Amino acid sequence: MSFTLAIVGRPNVGKSTLFNRLVGKRLALVDDQPGVTRDLREGEARLGDLRFTVVDTAGLEEATDESLQGRMRKLTERAVGMADACLFMIDARAGVLAADEVFADILRKKSAHVILGANKSEGRAADAGFLEAYALGLGEPLRLSAEHGEGMAELHAVLAPLIEAAEARLDAEAAPEVDVDLSDEDDDEDMEAPVRMPTAARPLQVAVVGRPNAGKSTLINQILGEDRLLTGPEAGITRDSISLSMDWQGTPVRLFDTAGMRKRAKVQDKLEKLSVSDGLRAVKFAEVVVVLLDAQIPFEAQDLKIADLAEREGRAVVIAVNKWDLETDRQDKLIALKEEFARLLPQLRGAPLVTVSALTGRGLDRLHDAVISAYTVWNRRVPTARLNRWLAGMLEMHPPPAPGGRRIKLRYMTQVKTRPPAFVVMASVPEKLPESYRRYLVNGLREDFEMPGTPIRLTFRGQG
Ligand code: GDP
Ligand code: GDP
Repeated sequence: MSFTLAIVGRPNVGKSTLFNRLVGKRLALVDDQPGVTRDLREGEARLGDLRFTVVDTAGLEEATDESLQGRMRKLTERAVGMADACLFMIDARAGVLAADEVFADILRKKSAHVILGANKSEGRAADAGFLEAYALGLGEPLRLSAEHGEGMAELHAVLAPLIEAAEARLDAEAAPEVDVDLSDEDDDEDMEAPVRMPTAARPLQVAVVGRPNAGKSTLINQILGEDRLLTGPEAGITRDSISLSMDWQGTPVRLFDTAGMRKRAKVQDKLEKLSVSDGLRAVKFAEVVVVLLDAQIPFEAQDLKIADLAEREGRAVVIAVNKWDLETDRQDKLIALKEEFARLLPQLRGAPLVTVSALTGRGLDRLHDAVISAYTVWNRRVPTARLNRWLAGMLEMHPPPAPGGRRIKLRYMTQVKTRPPAFVVMASVPEKLPESYRRYLVNGLREDFEMPGTPIRLTFRGQG
């Protein structure tokens, strides 16, 4: 979850120019097909040694008509909502305009950190506008020239401490990464540390992914309890992965959805490719990924791709089978689904599978519980002492192979990370251990320590 900077401001102040400068060619997804415009662009930014995500409300035409202005406002609020800080840009050559004041108002209310950037500041023509910028009441403006790359050091100076503070906060919350410790069992405590549950300050990040028409928008609206999603007939006004913060049955949740896909990708042959890339983006942000399937056509290629991706990215996964209200033979169907799930997605063994109806709201409490339990498992930390007792038992039950007559020794095991759980085993000749032995240990961990469904990373290390 990287630090996110939103670039906001009225059209033509130079947002895209700056975005492009920060992101270069590292844009996650671009598509210049007509009707496939994005209104929230996102990219991985680099500024000196800093790496962060940048979101830009690019592509908005000058808003003349009333409803478009409203949408622009919404879009800005959304970008601000998903960001850790905002860079509010004005055009110093044009000075402060009425439209800028509107943005300043939104920002004063919404964003914790606003950085004011007076762009197009190269040369004297910008001096007056630069001074006017102080009057916005958003602190000292930065003198920027996105086009000429001026002011980047100043931007770096402002961003660096913000990013550092955000990362420190995350580190403090995640379990500390420890190096492999070869000393004798130092944690004689067999108690597991309790999992830190989501708070309002750090909500649980959930992505709802799935093929177009699976029911993502319906599900999210049902969870929200109101029609708050932005949908609209204007060409090009579509949404990107966006986030909504809410209180879901008492759990603070930040929900990322990709529902805009369907409206954006009118072109059929592009549909699949785009949905997968869009899902990828949402998955990157998420802690728990809800893969939403359509009960009528479950486990299509695209569903499998997204689920596999979530596993590979190390996210906790919940499978939700939607449109359950349309099923008549529910018992049989559920058995068939579980079989298919086990066969097609063995890498997600044990992940919760729940049936829901986004339309009627049935099963949403089960979905909530499954998300919380997946999150808990994902955060689990097993004490070293218990792990090593367990390892001894596993070795005894099924010793590692002995290539060339010398048995491979596994000496010590520790959990180095959570979210997802990652383990390291010290081995005499790690490179000779077959994959099947690794799987044996992973499956054992999953079962014996109750970590169903979460991706488990296990690596062998030599002691040299
Ligand atoms: P956006 O609508 O806010 O994304 O603005 P753009 O990035 O598309 O820029 C609008 C216009 O301002 C373009 O013609 C840019 O070339 C120009 N522009 C952007 N940054 C600067 C700058 O630093 N100095 C000057 N003089 N022009 C700039
Ligand atoms: P998205 O593309 O994944 O966002 O899908 P939508 O939420 O737009 O839903 C696609 C279609 O499926 C719409 O016509 C919905 O009304 C319908 N739909 C969604 N959820 C359910 C459900 O639980 N039951 C039934 N019967 N229809 C649903």
